Amino acid sequence: MTHSPVIELRDVSVRYGDVPALESIDLAVSPKEFLGVIGPNGGGKSTLLKVILGLITPDRGTVLVLGRAPARARRTVGYVSQKPVFQNDFPASVWDVAIMGRAGVKGLLRGYDVEDRAAAEEALRRVGMLQFSSKQIGSLSGGEQQRVFIARALVGKPEILLLDEPLASIDPTMQTDFYELLQSLRRDLTILMVSHDIGAISVHVDTIACLNRRLFHHGTRELTTDVLEATYQCPVQLITHGPVPHRVLKEH
Ligand code: ADP
Ligand code: MG
Repeated sequence: MTHSPVIELRDVSVRYGDVPALESIDLAVSPKEFLGVIGPNGGGKSTLLKVILGLITPDRGTVLVLGRAPARARRTVGYVSQKPVFQNDFPASVWDVAIMGRAGVKGLLRGYDVEDRAAAEEALRRVGMLQFSSKQIGSLSGGEQQRVFIARALVGKPEILLLDEPLASIDPTMQTDFYELLQSLRRDLTILMVSHDIGAISVHVDTIACLNRRLFHHGTRELTTDVLEATYQCPVQLITHGPVPHRVLKEH
């Protein structure tokens, strides 16, 4: 059975002035796919997410999100950006941060109603942070904050969740918990998660995309050394750590 893709890019290219960030990207993401996007720093991973969000209009090519132009599909997409949204002394509670995600649904000036509060409560419960509602966001650990940002992305009830390097601020010992959360969310969502950690991500996702300006691979998470070397343009070796074999980069 074939499903029409949830996200589709055809021959998409993006430049920042003279700098090419994405070149001739063809990508089709299926409903409920959990896709890990890997690639080196500067490889265009964040740019790809911004194109899907409609924050960047490509210089060339077509982007469809649920069959619509990205700007028109914006409300179906939840997004957790790579850059921290707040300084640690930002005077907002966990509840404030989560419910802010409703502003994108109905506009900022309207104030929050019963439906908004119910959505915020449900989202915080889903990420296991409801009991921290009154805590100041900056007082939480990186992993807890990331959960709240995911709740904020979920309150608009998206069909697609885009996560840009969500593990960067999370203690490695907490990463398993984080992946468990994503596994529980993926039942209702198509998830694109950006990472530069090839090892951990490949254990948890369905598919991997290797991006370094061009798309070198989209498909099985069992990556060949050739694909990784083409993406990272440096030697890669296979090693084992933890219970599952991981391919990681050689020192270089
Ligand atoms: P990644 O997320 O994989 O690290 P990015 O998408 O952030 O990669 O960046 C891809 C390329 O585009 C890099 O060369 C980066 O320096 C450049 N770039 C990203 N954002 C901008 C911007 N706003 N202005 C100019 N160049 C940018
Ligand atoms: Mg990035």
